[in-house]
Amino acid sequence: MTLLSLPDRKPFLTAALALVTLAALAAAAISAEPRAKDLFGAKKLPAVAPAQSFGFYSKGCFTGGVALPMDGPAWEVMRPARNRRWGHPAMVALIEKLARDAQADGWPGLLVGDVSQPRGGPMMTGHASHQIGLDADIWLTPMPSRPLTMAQRESMSATLMVDEKTHLVKDALWTPAHTRLLRRAASYPEVERILVNPGIKKKLCDTVTGDRSWLRKIRPFWGHDYHFHMRIGCQPGSPGCKAQEATPDDDGCGKPLAWWFTEEPWRPNKNPDAPKARDLMTMANLPRECQAVLAAADAPSLAAVTYHGGSAVAVAVAEQPVAEPAETISSSGAALPAQASAFAPTPSIGIPLPRPRPGN
Ligand SMILES: [Zn+2]
Repeated sequence: MTLLSLPDRKPFLTAALALVTLAALAAAAISAEPRAKDLFGAKKLPAVAPAQSFGFYSKGCFTGGVALPMDGPAWEVMRPARNRRWGHPAMVALIEKLARDAQADGWPGLLVGDVSQPRGGPMMTGHASHQIGLDADIWLTPMPSRPLTMAQRESMSATLMVDEKTHLVKDALWTPAHTRLLRRAASYPEVERILVNPGIKKKLCDTVTGDRSWLRKIRPFWGHDYHFHMRIGCQPGSPGCKAQEATPDDDGCGKPLAWWFTEEPWRPNKNPDAPKARDLMTMANLPRECQAVLAAADAPSLAAVTYHGGSAVAVAVAEQPVAEPAETISSSGAALPAQASAFAPTPSIGIPLPRPRPGN
């Protein structure tokens, strides 16, 4: 009150008010900028274009996604309501191959968790990565013998394999079949990394005999105590895909693993409510191609882009005009010949494939 009554304070007040208004405007502008997770999270279908990943596992998007069928002879999709069973065709083909191979190894079948959103991008909840169609979570719980209903897939809880206090695997739960499953997943040349809880890595370090070279790909990380995370490398035809640093050559059972069994990695987060990167990312933070990926036409139907490892998808999609959302998407595709996926017995990928780049 006294401030207002002083005439010489008026200019100061005006200036202060102006500043406040500016700050409010700026805040409004920031909050009006849509979050990338809202935009990508709203997409129900992939962008029809050759399969191509843009950016990095934790900062990107992709086109040409295909859906892993809800059920297969050796897998079931979990938490189907999330609509995260989309991946680069090479990723989806590999999940199916792992399911078959694991079954042959004696694992009853895969419960498949999140892969990606139809066009990738940041997600509303969970995961920093899984954004370019090259990451998949597989439960460490074997597929039950009786088919799960859709309701059960939403509600069934996974088995926690690790003691939360000691960070060691619960010995009563771990079986040689778990080891075989991880070894099989690590055996594929496409798989660059498998993330598991440090307790699981330690269990493997302590028990695997014979060939231990595959342990190099098994990387300890927080969480990953009821599922493992399988990551494949950038695929042919994705020049804009940013590769991850190679893993060191050794088995990773030494010092770096020991660190996980110190207090340091488990200190409580000082600021647990701080927003995560995925909560802040706008389109400006993603590769510029992601704008076109977002704007591209939807695939004609879910059936047309559900992966069946064969010609059905190719026919269904080929009959539709293929949207070319942007030059960056249609012009930069390099070769993805049928054999490039290198999943030996897997049939050729049944979606429109980019043509080889001239002179490449
Ligand atoms: Zn994951």
